[in-house]
Amino acid sequence: MTQNTVEKHEFQAEVRQVLDIVINSLYTDKEIFLRELVSNAADSLEKLRHHQLSTKDVFDAELPLEINITTDETAGTITVQDHGIGLTREELVENLGTIAHSGSKAFAQALKNAKESGEEGTDALQLIGQFGVGFYSAFMVASHVDLYTHSWKNEGEHLVWRSDGDGSYQIEPSAISEKRGAKIVLSLKDEYEEFAKAERVRELLRRYSSFVPFPILLNGERVNTVQAIWARSKNEIKPEEYSEFYKYQADAFDEPLFTLHFNVDAPLAINALLFTPENNPERFGFMHMDPGVSLYCKKVLIDAHPKGLLPDWLRFLKGVVDSADLPLNISRESMQDSSLVKKISDVVTGRFLKFLAEQAEKEPEKYAKFWKQFGIFIKEAITVDRAQHGKLGKLLRYESSLTEAGQTIGLSDYVGRMKEEQKEIYYLYGASRAAIESGPFVESFKAAGIEVLYLYEPADEFVMNHLHKFDDKELKSGDSADLKLDDVSAQGAGEALPEERMKALCDWAKEALGERVKSVEASKRLVDSPALAVNADAYMTPAMRRMMRAIREREGSDAPVNEVNANFELNAKHALVAKMDALRESNPELGKEVLEQLFDASLMAAGMLDSPQNMLKRMTKLLEHVS
Ligand code: ADP
Repeated sequence: MTQNTVEKHEFQAEVRQVLDIVINSLYTDKEIFLRELVSNAADSLEKLRHHQLSTKDVFDAELPLEINITTDETAGTITVQDHGIGLTREELVENLGTIAHSGSKAFAQALKNAKESGEEGTDALQLIGQFGVGFYSAFMVASHVDLYTHSWKNEGEHLVWRSDGDGSYQIEPSAISEKRGAKIVLSLKDEYEEFAKAERVRELLRRYSSFVPFPILLNGERVNTVQAIWARSKNEIKPEEYSEFYKYQADAFDEPLFTLHFNVDAPLAINALLFTPENNPERFGFMHMDPGVSLYCKKVLIDAHPKGLLPDWLRFLKGVVDSADLPLNISRESMQDSSLVKKISDVVTGRFLKFLAEQAEKEPEKYAKFWKQFGIFIKEAITVDRAQHGKLGKLLRYESSLTEAGQTIGLSDYVGRMKEEQKEIYYLYGASRAAIESGPFVESFKAAGIEVLYLYEPADEFVMNHLHKFDDKELKSGDSADLKLDDVSAQGAGEALPEERMKALCDWAKEALGERVKSVEASKRLVDSPALAVNADAYMTPAMRRMMRAIREREGSDAPVNEVNANFELNAKHALVAKMDALRESNPELGKEVLEQLFDASLMAAGMLDSPQNMLKRMTKLLEHVS
């Protein structure tokens, strides 16, 4: 479709929003626009190189794969030109006029989420670092941008895209024949005329673009040496070089938290340079990152965001994996099934997990920072990657009954200080440290001198169920019905109700509570609390119940999740239990109210009470008896 007229278009609403933020508030360093444009040019050249591998039918096939930058002080312009893939008319609209592509869309979404959670401002800069909304940054320094282009496709048109960045843009046929690729001319705002000066631009290119894998020429003069840092020897590379490369490769503004550079020859040749960022952008909402480790074969990019290369839960990693053993023409589709790719994935994943475990030992504080941001991915991994359980389990960190609030330990630490006769690893779930410590379950562990891990996220229980064992020891919830802690039964102060009375009380309670209980017994584990309930339903575990409740809540339903079926334990040494025992004869009705209340409170502590309404009503009634 060739049109000779000027077509005027409005930017999509989200683009306008992003433009507004980028131009007015985001970057303090306006100079960053150059890095963004050069990086787009390099991407486009990479794509062209790829097309050239599979087809000879490329427009202007003889043009060199390089980036030309020209400055014109008199005109007040800077021009960035590449001979990459260029854009067709549809692509101009699609790629520059809408946010269909991932980067900016994710950015807009994250910004929205950050706003909703009140994190606006402080984190906006970090956000941009993690997304890079590239092209639009040109409008920070330019009052006007003209993009001249011809697509790599022979049937493409010679086009110009123009905009003032104010809400609309136009597309028209170019008066002259354009070369393949894109030539972006920025008419600089008066206050940014410095970017039309060759010296200033040379300095910037040195700083930002030394890793661009294509020649960059400034006013005809070569300014970079093309190099693949991952192929160089580790000893020669300075930390700043790693950091610069990370920023270039991940389009990031932060520093890498961890850097892992290694090469192996067997089972196949791999050269890898991996980074973990400082922050996890997924924490702002539901957006799912694209994989960030690029795949190269002998320094030629195969795929910048390969979906099948590493497991999805490693999507937070940035960097490069280069394998000389891969066929250069491996397609994105065939990657998923390639056994070579599977091998690469196994080696890289294994090495990275081992590295993390070492770092956790060597630099616990740095690891704690990592855990805070990226621990969620390790948990995700446990639920999907059984083969790596051994390594993953070591990376988990939790607070426990023996740590200070805010301090965490690993499962290895836990096992290291387990009592000799202890066979299992115990954990308790609760919304917070305070919630767990005020519940009835923790006291028996404390009395028996056994450490319990504290889990604060519902997902943690699933993680424990999936992991199932660590170091051959079963992971067990501290509220399990069959839990028996040997040393505890004799503990606790106070006079116990005689055994027969206790038995009669339990029978009475079972009768009164009916189908909601499977058994009522004198407890062997309670110390300070009067009663506790544990789940007796093999399928509807408290974890399952919590999840179903969350789903119901999201659906706006307050229907109870399922009938409870609990084992109810009473503490024979507790004054309240003795009182209840007396009441069941002197005032059976009140005795029953007390029992119901005790039962509901126990269900609540165990995460099994679906709706507290009855309990609250009953409480008011009971309070009337306070004299
Ligand atoms: P991102 O690079 O994160 O996708 P940008 O805003 O920088 O976001 O660019 C948007 C899209 O415009 C790119 O995805 C690409 O399709 C297209 N584009 C940008 N610069 C060029 C270029 N020099 N040559 C060809 N296409 C380009």
